[in-house]
Amino acid sequence: MKIVVCIKQVPDTVEVKIDPKTGTLIREGVPSIINHDDKTGIEAALTLKEKLGGTVSVVSMGPPQADIALREALAMGCDEAYLVSAREFGGSDTYATSGILAGALEKVGYDVIITGRQAIDGDTAQVGPQIGEKLHLPQVSYVEEIVDATEEYVVVKRQFEDGYHIIKVKTPCLLTAIAELAEPRYMSVGGVFDAYQKEIKIIGFEDIKDGLELDMIGLKGSPTNVYKSFTKEMKGAGTVLRDLTPEQAVEAIVKKLEEKFII
Ligand SMILES: Cc1cc2nc3c(=O)[nH]c(=O)nc-3n(C[C@H](O)[C@H](O)[C@H](O)COP(=O)(O)OP(=O)(O)OC[C@H]3O[C@@H](n4cnc5c(N)ncnc54)[C@H](O)[C@@H]3O)c2cc1C
Repeated sequence: MKIVVCIKQVPDTVEVKIDPKTGTLIREGVPSIINHDDKTGIEAALTLKEKLGGTVSVVSMGPPQADIALREALAMGCDEAYLVSAREFGGSDTYATSGILAGALEKVGYDVIITGRQAIDGDTAQVGPQIGEKLHLPQVSYVEEIVDATEEYVVVKRQFEDGYHIIKVKTPCLLTAIAELAEPRYMSVGGVFDAYQKEIKIIGFEDIKDGLELDMIGLKGSPTNVYKSFTKEMKGAGTVLRDLTPEQAVEAIVKKLEEKFII
C-alpha cells in the first residue's frame, strides 16, 4: 500500500505574533514544527505500513526551510519525502494550495492520502477535503481511529458531533486526521542518521504544470484574499482570585457574576 501524508510546517503557536503594521505573521526567530494533526497522520501511516507493508511518503508545500519538517518525518520512519516548492506557488490561498498539492500527489502516486484536519496557523481545515475533491477521491474527515484496513478498503471511526460514524471506504481514498488518531512516535537515532542520507525530492511548477495553469495558482489563482490580520485586543486585566479554597472561589465568582447581573 502506498500511503502519502501531507504535512505542513507551521510556527509553534505559543509564540506566534502578528506585526501590527503589516498584519503578517512575524516568523523571524519563531521555531517551526510539523503541524500536530499531520504528525498524527504520519504515525497512523507508519502503523498502517507495519500492518500491510508498502511505503509511506510525505509531501509538504512550502519554502526550502520546510526541508527540516520533511527530514523529521523521514527520521520517524517515512520512506521518501517531497518538497513542493516554486516561485509560481507563492501567495496561494487554500484553493490554489490544494490544486498544487493535488497535482503533486498525482505525480507521487497514492493508495491512501492522509492530511491533518486543520493547520494551526491557517486554521481553515479546507485543504484536505479540497484535495479529495480535486482528485475525485472518496474522503473521510475527522478520523479518530483506523479500525481495519486492506489493500482494497479502509474502515475508520470518524468523530461526529456527539457521536461517531464507522465508515468503510474504498481505496484510493483521502482521510483527514485529528489529534486523537495516534500518539506520534519519537525520531530514532538511526532514523535521524538515515534522514540526512536520503534525498528530499523537489516538485516544482514544471513537474506538475500539465493541468495546472498559471492563473490557477499563486495570488492570481486565489479566489480569497486575507484583507487584514490582527491580534485580539485584551478587554482588560481581569480579576485574579488567589489563596482561596474551591468553595470560597465558587462563592466569590458567583458574587461577581451577580454583581454584574450575569446570573
Ligand atoms: C490570499 C492568500 C494568500 C496567501 N499567501 C500565502 C503566502 O504567500 N505564503 C504562505 O505561506 N501562505 C499563504 N497563505 C496561506 C495559505 O494559503 C494556507 O496556509 C494554506 O493554503 C493552507 O491552509 P490552512 O493553513 O488553512 O490549512 P488547513 O486547510 O487547515 O490544513 C489541513 C491540512 O492540509 C494539509 N496542508 C495544508 N497546507 C499544506 C501545505 N502547505 N503542505 C502540505 N500539506 C498541507 C495538512 O495536512 C493540514 O493539516 C495565503 C492565504 C491566502 C488566503
